[in-house]
Amino acid sequence: MKVAVIGAGVSGLGSLKVCLDEGLEPTCFESSHDIGGLWRFKETPEPGRANIYKSVVINSSKEMMAFSDFPPPAELPNNMHHSEVMLYVRLYAEAFKLLQHIQFQTTVVSVRQTLDFAATGQWDVETETRDGQRETRVFDAVIVCTGHFTQPHLPLGDFPGIESFEGRYFHSWDYRSADDMEGKRVVVIGIGNSGGDIAVDISRVAEKVYLSARSGAWLVSRVGEGGLPADLVGTSRLDMMMGKLFPSWVNKMVENKLNKVVNHKLYGLQPNHGFFQQIPLVNDDLPARIISGRVQLKPNVKQFCGSTVVFADGSVIDKVDVVVFATGYNYSFPFLPSALQAKSGYRLNLYKHVFSPALTRPTLAVVGFIHGLGAINPLAEMQARWATRVFKGLTKLPSEKTMIKEIEKDTVTMHQRFACSDRNPIQVEYVPYLDFVAEQVGVRPNLLWLLLTDPRLALNILLGPCTPYQYRLTGPGQWAGARQAILTQWDRVIQPFKTRVVPEPETKPSSKRNIIMFFSGSVLLCCIVYNKHELSSFFSLLSLLRSPQ
Ligand code: FAD
Repeated sequence: MKVAVIGAGVSGLGSLKVCLDEGLEPTCFESSHDIGGLWRFKETPEPGRANIYKSVVINSSKEMMAFSDFPPPAELPNNMHHSEVMLYVRLYAEAFKLLQHIQFQTTVVSVRQTLDFAATGQWDVETETRDGQRETRVFDAVIVCTGHFTQPHLPLGDFPGIESFEGRYFHSWDYRSADDMEGKRVVVIGIGNSGGDIAVDISRVAEKVYLSARSGAWLVSRVGEGGLPADLVGTSRLDMMMGKLFPSWVNKMVENKLNKVVNHKLYGLQPNHGFFQQIPLVNDDLPARIISGRVQLKPNVKQFCGSTVVFADGSVIDKVDVVVFATGYNYSFPFLPSALQAKSGYRLNLYKHVFSPALTRPTLAVVGFIHGLGAINPLAEMQARWATRVFKGLTKLPSEKTMIKEIEKDTVTMHQRFACSDRNPIQVEYVPYLDFVAEQVGVRPNLLWLLLTDPRLALNILLGPCTPYQYRLTGPGQWAGARQAILTQWDRVIQPFKTRVVPEPETKPSSKRNIIMFFSGSVLLCCIVYNKHELSSFFSLLSLLRSPQ
């Protein structure tokens, strides 16, 4: 079965690997010259592709962002710089010999059902190479992995007077570094993760940065209790169960905890939504930049007037040099038939964000177009595992009617549960979503069974972080190293900290020494008192003191 995988970012690479595992014949089309997608840093932004700035480090820690059968090297830091993410991605591609299945500099321009689609489920995939050569090939299935941070959303119409602005403005997609921001007065609009990062970045050299937040955000750190990665602590299946049983209590508890670190009201961060309703702002440096006055929180921008910026509360900042619009992204799949781009609310009309109910044969899957409070790699990989099983007919989808009903239900739930918008169209509950798809594939970990057969592993799964290796323990795609990967995950977390090993305090050995000294002293005293010259035991005890502890 020939499968076209479109895009060689982490979603595409994971899908490629899954296709090979399932004995399919994948060809991956990548419009750029290299793998990595968003994680390949580009000095100059490339239109139609996701871009990152120089300072980006991952929000999710390496164990959570791992491919499920490829734990990251222990030496890599927990919250990797983008260059280290690329290193990991390259190691993955090399280990599973993925590069030979990728056609670089080849853009997919159109994906259309063949005339006999109803019988074959096949697709005409038209590509264009860098030198303009077009080709159409027939594939039995298609996996779309083209990412979703590609079309900058620049809502200039919402900012009256922007045309009179005398300084420079641009979207966060164009931002690379703060090199040319020295001494400048900068307004950053938007308090998503990019807005937070960029404000901090620029504030190190600028005269002042004003971070304009329409709705506020919950601020979390990458550094959790005891200095461990925050997403590994307090995110176990047990924590998740507690969240399900006592949602408002857990929400309150988390918010109280975050307010103890930084009083969100005092810092002007307080959002209207609850913690679990939106992806939080992950930033370790912002509070320090605010307390030192380098960054000032401001409300929404009301209007521009020359180089003056007027905010919704009437406050005014003069002589602004630069405005960065960290206002999010639109999404599009220009190569897909319009029927497959229909919407349900803000999201695409896809069953569980993967399959279109409009297709009579489920041979097209969208992978990686999803958002959850967790890393993308495990989500995308799990979707691809499901897709390949469906392509092969080993897993059945519900009827079209049922899928449509489910989509409508999911959309309502999603809009009630999360703060969704055009810019934030998809949000899922991370572990429940993974578990649902894993169930379809037949790889959901069976906790009860594990408690009976392998309690140590079961406890790690229940009480430890929900790392992706859990979905490789049994079923299709089972990986023999999964158990060991789970049992050693904390070793890989701790390893990068061992750059200056602090010796163990001498408390134990010295107390042992004290006991031996006390005991030998008593023996010596007894020998003297009873005038017995059996000092040999005393000396043998004394020799113990010299042995390595
Ligand atoms: P992309 O990485 O965007 O890859 C898509 C690929 O498809 C690209 O290589 C592109 O060239 C190619 N392509 C597109 N169209 C075509 C076409 N028509 N034909 C051929 N090829 C095509 N996620 C996390 O999990 N953890 C994080 O810490 C994290 N931090 C982030 C920080 C920033 C600043 C941003 C913007 C995002 C972050 N993300 C993070 C989300 C991030 O998008 C995903 O981690 C991931 O990169 C998405 O991978 P992808 O393969 O789906 O898409």
